[in-house]
Amino acid sequence: MEELAQLEAVALVCTQCRLAESRTQVVFGVGDPAADLMFVGEAPGFHEDQQGEPFVGAAGQLLTRLLGEIGLGREEVYIANVLKCRPPGNRDPQPDEIGACKGYLRSQVTLVDPNVVVTLGNFASKLLLRTEVGITNLRGRSYRWWQGRLLIPTFHPAAALRSQQKLIPEMQQDFALVREALAQPRHRPSIATPEPSQMELFS
Ligand code: URA
Repeated sequence: MEELAQLEAVALVCTQCRLAESRTQVVFGVGDPAADLMFVGEAPGFHEDQQGEPFVGAAGQLLTRLLGEIGLGREEVYIANVLKCRPPGNRDPQPDEIGACKGYLRSQVTLVDPNVVVTLGNFASKLLLRTEVGITNLRGRSYRWWQGRLLIPTFHPAAALRSQQKLIPEMQQDFALVREALAQPRHRPSIATPEPSQMELFS
């Protein structure tokens, strides 16, 4: 079994935090295991918990549409969340739940090894960029991230839907940045170049 599938098999029976008691199933991730582009959302919602796949509800439909607008299909990217299990009532992830779960995300990034990572919403963006700056101020540019990858933060598609679509033009600008970032060669830090502090997220 390839490594990502092995990791998924472990995650599917995970009991490392309280969410194991309330979930219907673990939502590990979906897509091309060797994708150049990876999306990181917050946590599964109702539909994801039912179906076992990230971003299958209304927010997922918007994500699929925005991807299509830059010429990409869902099957060409990899999609995961910070948390692999649904928090009851879609409440915010708790620090201990993130602590218990973040090793899975670290391994997903390592194994898929995308050149470009897009964080969807405040939660994933603040966590992966290790910042308290909110998404409205973070978005609109790309950040050099762990192991020379580019990280592009954008609004969560569910927030865009709640905004009566007002945020969609800005998401389209961010997706245009994604298109450009995918055309760039990966920056491979030399031994002399210190790793960015973001790496500590996964230590
Ligand atoms: N919202 C998320 O953050 N992730 C999903 O998978 C679905 C909705």
